[in-house]
Amino acid sequence: MISATAQRRHAIDLDDFTAEEIEEILETTGSMKEVLSREIKQVPTLRGRTVVNMFYEESTRTRISFELAARALSANIVNFTARGSSVEKGESLIDTVRTLQALGAEIVVIRHSQSGAPYLVARHFNGAVINAGDGRHAHPTQALLDLFTIHERLGQIRDLKVVIVGDILHSRVARSNLWGLTRMGAQVTLCAPPTLLGPATYWTTTWPEVTISYRVDEALQGADVVMALRIQKERMQAGLLPSLREYSRAYALTPERLAGLSEKTLIMHPGPMNEGVEIWPEVVTAPNAVIEEQVTNGVAVRMALLYRLAG
Ligand code: ASP
Repeated sequence: MISATAQRRHAIDLDDFTAEEIEEILETTGSMKEVLSREIKQVPTLRGRTVVNMFYEESTRTRISFELAARALSANIVNFTARGSSVEKGESLIDTVRTLQALGAEIVVIRHSQSGAPYLVARHFNGAVINAGDGRHAHPTQALLDLFTIHERLGQIRDLKVVIVGDILHSRVARSNLWGLTRMGAQVTLCAPPTLLGPATYWTTTWPEVTISYRVDEALQGADVVMALRIQKERMQAGLLPSLREYSRAYALTPERLAGLSEKTLIMHPGPMNEGVEIWPEVVTAPNAVIEEQVTNGVAVRMALLYRLAG
């Protein structure tokens, strides 16, 4: 039988993933997690295959977890960073990708500040392309690890109320999660100040099933999952927020807001966090916070995706 993802070549966003494909990846992630719990955390699945991590933008979690994932599958992994490469001599993204291909790259993992850069790479590369975050557009592996974490903890995704709070307008994490969560049947509420959400119709025409809220205390009622997003200082400088303190008062996940939630409500954050801005330290360490688990699950999810695409 040909599996739902067997014919997929790239993973650029979750918009073209069916619920069946996502389920398959989550299932494979479970098997990969089992590999990572063994004493020897390595299988020979991708021995001799070459993965290149192309990071044009800073990253800790995503870059390292792709590296660990590739190593756990015994692939050769090469880390390319724009700094110190011929990009500094003016080499274009397309020429860089062609060079990497000529050197034997079979899978390219790319992070870029420009939305759409992975599509350009995919047009000029014969192998598989995985988007590790492009501009405001998409971050599919983050969404997959979020879906896996929710499913693992709560046993389902369908019908759960998931509240995403924070800088939704600029968030590739929110966009990819919207594709994934709605496809898997979750009820998503987006909650942000109007300046960090943009026109509500943009969201409700793209994802008709989402609910929009400007008041966090209202939005959090009955939440099964709360996902806080990072607030960047630049948003204040750009005039989108009066001050970080104002934002915190109105939207942060504080111990008081946590107390109003069920003990079973999952608290998530894709990282990096600004503790004391969008989330309080007491919330980060609460028993129902799964922020570190998200990071841990990121390795298994990326193993699952590398395995699928390498096939
Ligand atoms: N790490 C996530 C990303 O790369 C979230 C963030 O940076 O706020 O998009």
